Amino acid sequence: MEEKILKLCGKKHVKLGIMGGTFNPIHFGHLVTAEEALQQFELDKVIFIPTGSPPHKTSGILASPEDRYLMSVIATASNPDFFVSRIEIDRQRTSYTIDTLKELKNIFGNRATLYFITGADAILEILTWKASGEIMQYCRFIAATRPGYDIKKIEDLKEKILSNYDFINSGDRQHIYLMEIPALAISSTDIRRRIKENSPIKYLLPESVCNYLLKHGLYK
Ligand code: NAP
Repeated sequence: MEEKILKLCGKKHVKLGIMGGTFNPIHFGHLVTAEEALQQFELDKVIFIPTGSPPHKTSGILASPEDRYLMSVIATASNPDFFVSRIEIDRQRTSYTIDTLKELKNIFGNRATLYFITGADAILEILTWKASGEIMQYCRFIAATRPGYDIKKIEDLKEKILSNYDFINSGDRQHIYLMEIPALAISSTDIRRRIKENSPIKYLLPESVCNYLLKHGLYK
């Protein structure tokens, strides 16, 4: 798949968005985030990477990795710039971002610059992630925020990172970018709650994904 991406881009060097998320389930907020990043950062393609077994998820209803992968494929199928990777789904152990980035580095080498796109709240925890210092050498980050988000939290994090990691001080100071996404008023948590309470979910996520999760009785 990765070779196909390079071929499709028709370039020796590409800028790739890596959409990391549990996607439990994927919704329009995620799709708008990916499209906005594609345009704003002039990315060539965006690869969605649903987490397999997330290290930080201990409660709540989590659909199976395969279901979350399939819903991501269905949701992105019509967009020629969006791909979905099984890299974390197929890993038979906890999904750490550092392992994913290393794997992508092995595949693309210096042929790609990676932009890891995810929710700002997830990025706020980055210093607690496995090998956080190393992670920052592999990619830049795009933190997607919901309307009304207190961006000071991210600014403080940036300062903390800059004072902790010399390599960022000497090189690319702008390592975490912020992107406000009004469509992120939609959330997976709210969709799961609505399904449980038999409230409408129409127009919050693609109809095909909606049909899939109803057919398979997810989040009931
Ligand atoms: P989360 O804590 O469930 O999500 C935090 C917030 O970000 C939620 O509001 C979520 O909204 C939103 N969000 C998540 N992914 C998004 C995306 N791609 N675009 C826009 N908003 C997004 O975080 P998560 O989804 O489980 O994990 C996010 C990424 O961080 C994953 O790739 C995960 O592997 C990585 N991570 C790595 C480690 C580690 O390596 N130790 C630890 C934690 C997270 P919704 O609920 O609506 O999606």
